[in-house]
Amino acid sequence: MDFLKRAWAEVDLDSIEYNLKEYRRLIGEKTEIMCVVKASCYGHFDNGVVPFLENEMDIRWFAVSNIHEAHRLRDMGIKGEILILGYTPPENAKWLTKLDIIQACTELSYAKALSENADGKVRIHAAIDTGMTRIGLHGETDKIYGELKEISKLENIALEGIFTHYAVADSLRDQDEEYTKAQTEKILAVADKCEAEGLHLEKVHFLNSAGGVYYYNERSSLARLGIILYGLYPDPAKALPFEPKPAMEFKAAVAQVKYIDNGTDVSYGRTYTANGKVKLATVTAGYADGYPRALSNKGYVLINGKKCPITGRICMDQFMCDVTEVEDVKAGDEAVLIGSQGDERITADDIGKMTGTIGYEIVCGISARVPRIISRHGEQTAVLEIE
Ligand SMILES: *Cc1c(COP(=O)(O)O)cnc(C)c1O
Repeated sequence: MDFLKRAWAEVDLDSIEYNLKEYRRLIGEKTEIMCVVKASCYGHFDNGVVPFLENEMDIRWFAVSNIHEAHRLRDMGIKGEILILGYTPPENAKWLTKLDIIQACTELSYAKALSENADGKVRIHAAIDTGMTRIGLHGETDKIYGELKEISKLENIALEGIFTHYAVADSLRDQDEEYTKAQTEKILAVADKCEAEGLHLEKVHFLNSAGGVYYYNERSSLARLGIILYGLYPDPAKALPFEPKPAMEFKAAVAQVKYIDNGTDVSYGRTYTANGKVKLATVTAGYADGYPRALSNKGYVLINGKKCPITGRICMDQFMCDVTEVEDVKAGDEAVLIGSQGDERITADDIGKMTGTIGYEIVCGISARVPRIISRHGEQTAVLEIE
């Protein structure tokens, strides 16, 4: 495949397939998988991944964060159900019906506003706030039920489901286990009340990636699979029953290699000074590509299968690293920023740990200017560039 070998990301659909199949095997057939493809598939690029999920993996449910993301999927020809997890201003209600998108409903007044702005029925899943304290109907079960009942009677609303979101399903702490179980009980109490009162809900869902692994419950009709689909851990400190395969590697070219003398300062701020003679490589990616500046003097990259420590500050488009231990390194070589090379490996979770954040943020942060090279069955099949 022809593309600019400066900084690029390789997305392997085989790994996504593996993660999906392992997850499906784990949770069984009673719960359908809804693939969470927000933020352009957590930085993996929706146009490379979502058509594959629908056409080759038979996924019928997708979740996005906003109506632009939903619209992109429809433009790609995605026919499956799409749930918007975030907010859509009520004045855009007609857009929702036109594209046949399901909207998360935050509260009764929002449902009313959607109904007033719509022409035709806006399909919704009502968010129930059971402990995340982010969006959703909240309070006692009877109060929530009363609001759902009112929502269901609105002229231009089709209430098709309810869902909730776990706050600590990936946590190791005992008290968080209680918290998660209480969240499950709460949504199930609402679901039971609706059923008892004859308010039919097609879908009740509450499992995220971690929830499906650690708190599987067959009453969740959908499992909203996000991070594990892309091969990262909900929390790398907590083991998974299978090892997910990271689907994306981030690479960049070596632009220059040279020896520097003892005492030579490197990069902005002179935060690194060579201690002895050092062989230095300049690599062509920087924080504008989503390679965190917080890795300055902390991180490492892989070149010729060896770990090369980052020397000095990461710049916008370039950074330097110590390649003294690497033989035969030269301009044009490939540096692995995230991924494997030889026996070494560095994951987005590792980088998250080094920079005080999580793997989710690292993969989402790889910039749009970095082309995504898609591969399937071991062969590169597409180069996706910024549009
Ligand atoms: C992002 C998100 C998910 C997916 O979470 P993962 O931890 O990536 O599995 C599921 N549900 C909601 C409501 C979300 O916002």
